[in-house]
Amino acid sequence: ASLVTVLFHLGEMATATQSLDEDTFSALGAELGYQIQIVSPEEEDRELLEDFNIDIEAELAAETDEELEARPPVVTVMGHVDHGKTRLLDAIRKSDVISGEAGGITQHIGAYQVRHVHEGVDRAITFIDTPGHEAFTAMRARGAKVTDIAILVVAADDGVMPQTIEALNHAQAANVPIVVAVNKVDKEGANPAKIRQQLTEYNLVAEEYGGDTMFVDVSALQGKGIDDLLEAVLLTADAGLDLRANPNKDARGVAVEAHLDKGRGAVATVLVNSGTLRVGDAIVAGTAHGRVRAMFDEHDNQVKEALPARPVLVIGLTSVPRAGDTFLVADDDRTARQIAEKREAAERAAQLAKRRKRISLEDFNQALEDGKVETLNLIIKGDVSGAVEALEDALLQIDVGKEVDLRIIHRGVGAVTQNDVNLATVDNAIILGFNVRPAERVQELADREGVDMRFYSVIYRVLEDVESSLKGMLKPEF
Ligand code: GDP
Repeated sequence: ASLVTVLFHLGEMATATQSLDEDTFSALGAELGYQIQIVSPEEEDRELLEDFNIDIEAELAAETDEELEARPPVVTVMGHVDHGKTRLLDAIRKSDVISGEAGGITQHIGAYQVRHVHEGVDRAITFIDTPGHEAFTAMRARGAKVTDIAILVVAADDGVMPQTIEALNHAQAANVPIVVAVNKVDKEGANPAKIRQQLTEYNLVAEEYGGDTMFVDVSALQGKGIDDLLEAVLLTADAGLDLRANPNKDARGVAVEAHLDKGRGAVATVLVNSGTLRVGDAIVAGTAHGRVRAMFDEHDNQVKEALPARPVLVIGLTSVPRAGDTFLVADDDRTARQIAEKREAAERAAQLAKRRKRISLEDFNQALEDGKVETLNLIIKGDVSGAVEALEDALLQIDVGKEVDLRIIHRGVGAVTQNDVNLATVDNAIILGFNVRPAERVQELADREGVDMRFYSVIYRVLEDVESSLKGMLKPEF
């Protein structure tokens, strides 16, 4: 109330809850004898990000050749429901000779490593043990890039299905190369050639057809073709990916799974991106912190250290991090706690800032003029595939001018899902729904994330809005 009085004396009528412009704030500061510094949410966000978030890519770029050593690829298995993702992950786990000898039974900790002899060299491959693209996208939405290669499972007796397309869209949006596992080839009516044919439509052209995607026929049920699949993963990794990391520094990485265990407290499976994680290290994972009391591998063996791309179960955190949270090693316990606290505060600030930063159809043209965007990313969902295709064709025919790149990063049939919103978050896209509504709780998520979601029942209205937006003439909706 006293501020309101001061403002009144300055000639400003204000209420206690009203927000003020910058000039008024400065005048208020001067009147009270304070120097007011206005920090925009973006600025504040950036400073905090620099201090407490890990930009693994930037760090990697700064490493010299001598410091880097080869690391195993990290693989996620995706595909349509019931096409055999879980079975395949099991079959791969079982194919590991070495674990059979030395390790014993595999525990589910969220990720595991197998070994495969490639051209006489014994190499490791890390698998994320949560099948599906939902986990993949949720992690990406957190800023974590965990996966190097995606295995797209397609059942040879069923063919390309909606979630097959969704999965490949997600992988392609993340620039993650795909190896196709044509599964269930043991079944009667299996038609592996048809799968290759169908997928050419989605830019996945098999090597035998002159493309550069590896297709491998497998039977997860019978454990057939698994070696060939692992071989294809390594070949794909060697062909285009520079998978190296510096093991000689404090570890950083990502939490892939975490939960509260009755006996052991907060347990988290982390994947080391670079450096080496050791028992005794003070760590921060998301907003959780603590000291590594013990580490276990997927065979429940205690380990003392974990190298890059090695998943380990960590005990000793004071709370449970979320899947996709980054972790790092701090100098000591106190620093770890402070970073965790700062991150928590930053998260709250970022949440607010985020809403302001996301693109909407109304402000697209302004952002374009300001040089903040170059592409208009769209996600389209419709009630029937014909409508989705018609809409896509019509949108792609809009004269967008030279400066703009209009991209449809995902399309699909059905309600707008949380997944669509996550994808929109990651790629700063606008969601257009045609004769569909958002699934439950999706509107809430979109509001929280500040994703612009629009619903239509007439195609030309969609075109009208997108065209007006490109010209900067779309009026805000109230
Ligand atoms: P997910 O939903 O993609 O994880 O699929 P699941 O791994 O749960 O498999 C779905 C069903 O397909 C199960 O009944 C599996 O036993 C079966 N299945 C998986 N792989 C194969 C295979 O290679 N051949 C046959 N015949 N059945 C399979």
